[in-house]
Amino acid sequence: MEFERAAALKAAPLVDPFGRAITYVRVSVTDRCDFRCVYCMSEHMTFLPRKDLLTLEELDRLCSAFVARGTRKLRITGGEPLVRHDLMKLFRALSRHLVSGALEELTLTTNGSLLAKKAHALKAAGLKRITVSLDSLDDDVFMKMNDVDFPVTRVLEGIDAAAAAGLAPIKINMVVKRGVNDASVAAMARHFRGSGHILRFIEYMDVGHTNGWRMDDVVTAREIIERIDRELPLEPLDPNYPGEVAERWRYRDGSGEIGVIASVTQAFCRSCTRIRLSTEGKLYTCLFATTGHDLRALLRGGASDEELRAAVSGVWSKRADRYSEIRTSQTARLPKIEMSYIGG
Ligand code: SAM
Repeated sequence: MEFERAAALKAAPLVDPFGRAITYVRVSVTDRCDFRCVYCMSEHMTFLPRKDLLTLEELDRLCSAFVARGTRKLRITGGEPLVRHDLMKLFRALSRHLVSGALEELTLTTNGSLLAKKAHALKAAGLKRITVSLDSLDDDVFMKMNDVDFPVTRVLEGIDAAAAAGLAPIKINMVVKRGVNDASVAAMARHFRGSGHILRFIEYMDVGHTNGWRMDDVVTAREIIERIDRELPLEPLDPNYPGEVAERWRYRDGSGEIGVIASVTQAFCRSCTRIRLSTEGKLYTCLFATTGHDLRALLRGGASDEELRAAVSGVWSKRADRYSEIRTSQTARLPKIEMSYIGG
């Protein structure tokens, strides 16, 4: 009975002209970050004035509009979301959609720097699971990558605090860049094997302009799997659901699972169910889109909830992008939006 009531509350997802449903929204709550990961942000980044950021109430209204239009999963990201001071209030507000059954997943991606301090508050605010980014266990490599000398131990403490708070299973994301941290792949696999956390390796992508991306820097998902399999034998797993972005593998000795996200070498535009809300309320239908749809103007112009929902439907019903399927060395030079702004 409870289940039927919840199912009845779920709106049917919107479908674009290619038949792709919008079920997953990634929301950037700040463009600021306490790290300067060299593959993501430049040390000379300028940030938006605070008045341009969506307020808590605006974020809540827009997220609720997505949920009303069939979104099943909300991921809060940035920038570094945990640097935003009123974030717990946002989670407390959004978790009502979990309670009603309209939303299936409310989650967060973080660099882990503030996680040891905030893990319990996140759990209390209604969060079920989190994803933590960690690119190496080697301090020299990690500090060079985060560019602010942040040590590995403090991220590991954050991961432990999240596990103790019950934010599980925890996903650990490692972006692999050739010649920078690819020597850390096997050590990361060994460290997290048997922990219950799911380590996922992400191909280095051509997002933004500040990272000077080149195809030669990409370590392919195939190569990553081969390297781990040589030491820790692996076997493939079925996806958890159709269109899952990470390809799943498990250790043959039963000590856990890993994933690879082949965003560059195996484009998944065809099954993409994502939409992104930028820090200042622009809606982007692709990580590689160059223009967004200004929802903040609608909000601040006095639009009703119904008008907001109609605007979301209007954007999705015209969605045509499939950047990763047409990626070439030429497209890498096209104008792009930085990941910290659009939401990683
Ligand atoms: N600050 C949070 C964090 O570190 O997880 C959230 C934002 S961050 C932009 C989200 C994710 O995007 C991180 O896992 C990061 O490693 C990944 N990312 C950033 N730039 C990337 C790139 N060029 N290629 C692949 N992943 C990237």
